[in-house]
Amino acid sequence: LADRLQNTIQKIKGKGKVTEQDVKEMTREVRLALLEADVNFKVVKDFIKKVKERAVGQEVMESLTPGQQVIKVVKEELTQLMGGDESKIAVADKPPTVIMMVGLQGAGKTTTTGKLANLLRKKYNRKPLLVAADVYRPAAIDQLETLGKQLNMPVYSEGTDANPVDIANKAMERAKEEHLDYVIIDTAGRLHVDNELMDELIQIKQNVNPDEVFLVVDSMTGQDAVNVAESFNEQLNISGVVLTKLDGDTRGGAALSIKAVTEKPIKFAGMGEKLDELEVFHPERMASRILGMGDVLSLIEKAQENVDEKRAKELEEKMRSASFTLDDFLEQMGQVKNMGPLDELIDMIPGANKMKGLKNVDFDEKQISHVEAIIQSMTVKERQDPSVINASRRKRIARGSGRSVSEVNRLLKQFEEMKKMMKQMTNSQQGKKGKKGKK
Ligand code: GDP
Ligand code: MG
Repeated sequence: LADRLQNTIQKIKGKGKVTEQDVKEMTREVRLALLEADVNFKVVKDFIKKVKERAVGQEVMESLTPGQQVIKVVKEELTQLMGGDESKIAVADKPPTVIMMVGLQGAGKTTTTGKLANLLRKKYNRKPLLVAADVYRPAAIDQLETLGKQLNMPVYSEGTDANPVDIANKAMERAKEEHLDYVIIDTAGRLHVDNELMDELIQIKQNVNPDEVFLVVDSMTGQDAVNVAESFNEQLNISGVVLTKLDGDTRGGAALSIKAVTEKPIKFAGMGEKLDELEVFHPERMASRILGMGDVLSLIEKAQENVDEKRAKELEEKMRSASFTLDDFLEQMGQVKNMGPLDELIDMIPGANKMKGLKNVDFDEKQISHVEAIIQSMTVKERQDPSVINASRRKRIARGSGRSVSEVNRLLKQFEEMKKMMKQMTNSQQGKKGKKGKK
């Protein structure tokens, strides 16, 4: 979708004015792309109609940069379609707050139960109880218990012959006794929606009266996800959706359709198998991502989670003012190492897929330690101002770090490019920042 759109956008950008023909062309691309991304046919149709109505109007014609205006309309409508503003997680008047996880087998319920518990503790300082109400497979109980151990959190479970409804009830009692403020119930799934499963889930729901019923949906399942979401919603009146495996190849077509069909918000996004890879779902960011503008906000947020907030601010300032030095670069390398797989981060940078130079950079761990060695072999002055590094200095640095001169050269070149890129990035961020500002 990204490439397609970018081509069309490129064409429009060159013009002073957007004609009806341009809008038509652009919406045709958008339409195809959305269909390709597995967005429900009817949803696409409505969407395109809305965009056309807005885009062909005055708004576009009078604008100074009509191309951008069209993108803005598409993005706004996409955001709207996925739920407008981001939504929050419920808090019960009287604890514990009960969250029930439902969904098909393999969707990611158990994993998300752990992730959610982790997030509730980390972000809101809550004490969750995990409940193993999937009694059909012993492995499912073990899986949750393992997660509980990893997180050092209590898990309520019984054997495989216990009744899930009883388990849920007893877990509620235990949470009250131990003053735990969240109860997250991991329920069983099936390969397909069936009545037996639904009956069980309905019974659990009636007994524990949950504050949230989260439908966990695998974003890779495409069109099917829409039907699944529809039937779960009909039977259980879900309160929100967690979209998992968004770290995969999907462009998130499911996200678009599910919201449109169920009219329930997508609250969280699963971004990997690890326990900290759950993010609050930001429709606006998702829209950007779908449109190929990258996900700078997510990137910055991710960085800030792993980096001392104050230092991150300082570094950001430095990037902006172009006083970013190799020392800062070195520090960032260390932080980047804590952030997780680098290609994942790179993908969040707008237009990164278009930057050849970036793709050629080897971002493996070994490479990072080489870079660290090289920078550490520089003098303080050289780190502050790399322009003083002449040929003989390069040789000395290479010797000191045990790397070759060409590696030193490459690093310096990469650093310059990175600096340039950061400047671009922070510039394109300014507009957004002003709007979203404080949080
Ligand atoms: P359940 O049957 O619904 O309980 O699903 P599980 O929680 O057992 O997850 C099924 C598989 O999907 C496991 O291998 C998980 O590690 C994986 N998984 C879950 N969420 C994500 C995610 O957000 N990204 C990725 N890549 N894998 C996930
Ligand atoms: Mg499970």
